[in-house]
Amino acid sequence: MDTEYIRSRIRTIPDFPEMGIQFKDITPLLLDTKANELTLTALQKPFDTFTVDKVVGLESRGFLFGPSLATKFQAGFVPARKKGKLPYKTIQKEYGLEYGKDTLEMHTDAITPGDKVIIHDDLLATGGTAKAATELVLELDGQVVGYSFIIELSFLSGKNQLLKAIPSHSIIQY
Ligand code: AMP
Repeated sequence: MDTEYIRSRIRTIPDFPEMGIQFKDITPLLLDTKANELTLTALQKPFDTFTVDKVVGLESRGFLFGPSLATKFQAGFVPARKKGKLPYKTIQKEYGLEYGKDTLEMHTDAITPGDKVIIHDDLLATGGTAKAATELVLELDGQVVGYSFIIELSFLSGKNQLLKAIPSHSIIQY
C-alpha cells in the first residue's frame, strides 16, 4: 500500500538532536522518486476539492514539499521562517518546541486578506510551530482552511493546538 511504502522510507534516529527524542528522518524518502511522488499525491488528496490561495511551509522541512504542493493547488508558497532569516518587513510569534523555544516569522505581504491558506510541515509534534503559523496567518487576515503533515506524532496530541473546526491531515501516524 502507498502509505506503507512511504512509511518504509522514514527512519527513526534515537536521541537526536537530544537524548530522548526519536527523530523521524525523511531523507531516505527524499532519495526515492516513487516515495516523493506518492507523498505529494497523498498530501494533496484530502484537500482536492478545496480552493487554496497560499501554502505556508514551516522552516525548514516544510520547504521540501511545500512549493510542489502549492503548485498542485495553483497557489503561492509562503515560507514561515525562524527569526532573522526573512529580509523584508515581518511579523513574529514565539512558540515552544518538543525540544526548546523559537520564533517564527512571516513577511507582512505574504498573505492577502481573505487568502485561503493550508499550513504544511513535514511533522506535527507538540503543535507549537503550527499554532504559531496559524496566529501569523490570522494576524494578516488570512483564513486557515487546512493543516497538512507527512508525519504526526499522535502521542504528543499536537492536534489540540490547531484550530478545532479546520481539517488536519497526516499521511503517517506514530
Ligand atoms: P512541534 O512544534 O512540536 O509540532 O514540532 C514540529 C517541528 O519540529 C517540525 O518542523 C519538525 O520538523 C520538528 N520536529 C519535532 N519533533 C521531531 C521529531 N521527533 N522528528 C523530526 N522532526 C521533529
